[in-house]
Amino acid sequence: MFEKVLIANRGEIALRIHRACHEMGIATVAVHSTADRDAKHVLMADESVCIGPPAAAQSYLNVPAIMSAAEITGANAIHPGYGFLSENARFAEIVESHGLTFIGPSPDHIRLMGDKITAKAAVKEAGIPVVPGSDGEINDPDEAMKVAKDVGFPLLVKAAAGGGGRGMKLARTSADLAQAVQTARAEAAAAFGDGAVYLERYLEQPRHIEVQVVADSHGNVVHLGERDCSLQRRNQKVLEEAPSPALNAAQRQEIGEIVRKAIGKIGYLGVGTVEFLYENGEFFFIEMNTRLQVEHPVTEMITGLDLVREQIRIASGEKLSVSQDQISFNGCAIECRINAEHPKTFVPSPGMVKDFHVPGGLGVRLDSAMYSGYTIPPYYDSLIGKLIVHGGCRKDALRRLKRSLEELVVAGVETTIPLFKDLLHEDEFIRGEYHIHWLEDWLEKSAD
Ligand code: ADP
Repeated sequence: MFEKVLIANRGEIALRIHRACHEMGIATVAVHSTADRDAKHVLMADESVCIGPPAAAQSYLNVPAIMSAAEITGANAIHPGYGFLSENARFAEIVESHGLTFIGPSPDHIRLMGDKITAKAAVKEAGIPVVPGSDGEINDPDEAMKVAKDVGFPLLVKAAAGGGGRGMKLARTSADLAQAVQTARAEAAAAFGDGAVYLERYLEQPRHIEVQVVADSHGNVVHLGERDCSLQRRNQKVLEEAPSPALNAAQRQEIGEIVRKAIGKIGYLGVGTVEFLYENGEFFFIEMNTRLQVEHPVTEMITGLDLVREQIRIASGEKLSVSQDQISFNGCAIECRINAEHPKTFVPSPGMVKDFHVPGGLGVRLDSAMYSGYTIPPYYDSLIGKLIVHGGCRKDALRRLKRSLEELVVAGVETTIPLFKDLLHEDEFIRGEYHIHWLEDWLEKSAD
């Protein structure tokens, strides 16, 4: 097992990883920008190294500075968290070439899944159902029209290198298609440095349901059930729950087994998430994330498994701590992403947190790097905390969520807390009847 792990991240996820390390007796090294000197992930770590100025490109994405920090502190492994360098295959290679362990999958798997075109082809080959669309890259409007003849409209033009809900253009009819392909290619080239795009049938009212998998280097693969992440704004997740209110145990078992077998065939290592759109009882793969996800706690709450601990164990060559038949799904967990943003306009609201009061009690977890007096810097993602509740059933979890939101205080900055409070008055949400556009429709209605 590793003696010292460098955490190449910040905020709540850096703290989350630090906690798992300390429970395993592993020392931690924090890295930070000059803007994060007083950040909690720095204060809690055993050692810390400043790796650059506030801009992420010069600090949290600064590979030479991070490698130097690992070198001078004698870290044995690097955990990338999510975002930043977590899905950067080249970084994983560099870490390994310095004789350190990258806590994550192999660079080849990161690369394979990082390109949505190669990812789709690979999982299809391994037996996972995918969204009907083009077989590969679309280079010009004529090719796009050919696909449209087979697949029909509406069609979504998607960037192979897309991420964070960006890089998608909708074409409702053939009149929109040429323009959509052109714009998507230009935007993808500018945003991701890769102009490759492909086509997918646009599903009108699907749910976003994703399956968590964990695989070790001894040939063991388990699935940990699904998360429903259909509550989205601008294709970004806002609230997640496990299990999905739309699936029964047989459906869970069926999709879980399909994914488990496919991941075994692909030879994947570590934790990963296979994302689907789900409509009229059918699953359609959209992408695989080769890292820990923001919403991993809801899975931890219903399985009792520590996913970061499993990641670290697997990276050090140990076996998975559980087999598939030892995994059971207990109750329901819901996570609210608390962002420092105005709850109606979503304009970022950095600044000083004057007061921070955390709810407690049975089945309540708050993952955050905030403290009273902490100043949220304007340079990074606006996620400042995650409130996660667990209950014996969905009704219990909703009651607990309501009670926890009443207790939670974040004063001094605008947050999305009022949004979640309002949501708990909506019958459709309470009944679990929502799809990926439901939240935006509801926000529009409530703005009137
Ligand atoms: P990203 O990597 O940017 O997260 P994804 O492919 O995972 O991109 O898609 C993000 C979200 O975009 C999905 O959760 C869904 O809301 C929407 N989306 C993606 N593909 C489709 C599709 N074929 N039809 C309808 N919505 C889609």
